Amino acid sequence: MTTPLTTLSEDETLFKQMVSEFAQEKIKPLRSQMDHDAQFDKGLIKAFFDLDIMGIEIPEAHGGVGANFFMSILAVEALSEVDASAGVLVDVQNTLVNNALIRWGNDDQKARYLPKMASEWIGAYALSEAGSGSDAFALQTQAQDQGDHFVLNGNKLWITNAGEANLFIIFATTDKSLGYKGITAFIVERGFDGFTIGKKEDKLGIRASSTCELQLNNCRVPKTNVLGEVGKGYKVAIETLNEGRIGIGAQMIGLAQGALNCGLQYIKEREQFGKSIASFQGVQFQIAELATQIEAARLLVYNAARLKDAGLPFLKEAAMAKLFSSQVAEKVASQVVELHGGYGYTKEYPAEKYFRDCKIGKIYEGTSNMQLQTIAKIILG
Ligand SMILES: Cc1cc2nc3c(=O)[nH]c(=O)nc-3n(C[C@H](O)[C@H](O)[C@H](O)COP(=O)(O)OP(=O)(O)OC[C@H]3O[C@@H](n4cnc5c(N)ncnc54)[C@H](O)[C@@H]3O)c2cc1C
Repeated sequence: MTTPLTTLSEDETLFKQMVSEFAQEKIKPLRSQMDHDAQFDKGLIKAFFDLDIMGIEIPEAHGGVGANFFMSILAVEALSEVDASAGVLVDVQNTLVNNALIRWGNDDQKARYLPKMASEWIGAYALSEAGSGSDAFALQTQAQDQGDHFVLNGNKLWITNAGEANLFIIFATTDKSLGYKGITAFIVERGFDGFTIGKKEDKLGIRASSTCELQLNNCRVPKTNVLGEVGKGYKVAIETLNEGRIGIGAQMIGLAQGALNCGLQYIKEREQFGKSIASFQGVQFQIAELATQIEAARLLVYNAARLKDAGLPFLKEAAMAKLFSSQVAEKVASQVVELHGGYGYTKEYPAEKYFRDCKIGKIYEGTSNMQLQTIAKIILG
């Protein structure tokens, strides 16, 4: 019998429930303050490790859970229902950093780093620079071969988790004349000489998630820390981001569901014209429309993740999932603000935070235009 796409196995159900309960009990009471302070709570990060959601796909032999990609998607969705900053912290850890280490790391790198990633270290993924975002492979950071090590020079911008991270996957070019074929991925530890964390961005949304500049000033990286082959960094970047964007889709459907839940609660409580506003057909139809959009987005995200786990092609589906779920999140979060009337425009309710947080879904890990470009390329052949 074929299982319906959104039907979760017993393990998946229990796992998602556990993360949801944690998010409701532990993250929800802190989210407004974290958003205000633009600071993620350190105790929560420790709790993420205790909960085993920082090394979901890391093999058990290296101290992880040894679960599949879909479980990471469920964790990101469940966390983002309460706080999209928590969602992206766990998303980058699992779907980008751990993913790259598991797939491209050699035995020595896996033995050195995976147990730390599963138990105490936060990861960050540094591709973007001031002059290269959508055109990521126009990056300027240089890596010079110096025998047993490389020397890295340049600046990275917009790096999620950089404020807390211990390990950074950094993309630099070993030979500019080779274009994208000169790009190489490096594993850089926070304490390496010549590596500093620069300015932290003051953002519209996902404010508790740190986004910082990285400065590499004659940063010495041992050759044993080249991730994958020299000149194959573009492959590391493309392949991890192809999967990572399903994670952003999960963040967006979680966020949309969280916003809708707030809206549902409010419209049942709020009375106008002597009745709850939920009793007006106009409001009911708005809610029905939003719930339908979320369901459609969830089907796209779950399908892309399950295709990936099945070893089937998923590139188009992943791009569609991210594109559509970020559109849905924006639509839902915006309408939920309106359904709260004037209160929706204040910090008294979380509606305004969902609205601010949703916008990033259309920007990072490839803007919506970049997703459209990927989809168009595939369908045009
Ligand atoms: C909060 C936050 C967190 C981030 N985290 C990370 C991270 O952890 N690691 C990392 O490496 N990066 C990260 N980024 C960077 C992010 O991936 C880039 O901002 C994004 O890829 C867009 O690049 P850009 O900002 O240079 O915009 P640009 O590429 O300059 O794009 C500007 C506009 O032009 C459009 N555009 C550009 N080229 C085309 C084209 N060919 N056709 C049509 N339209 C086009 C885009 O769609 C966009 O609307 C983060 C960014 C933010 C804001």
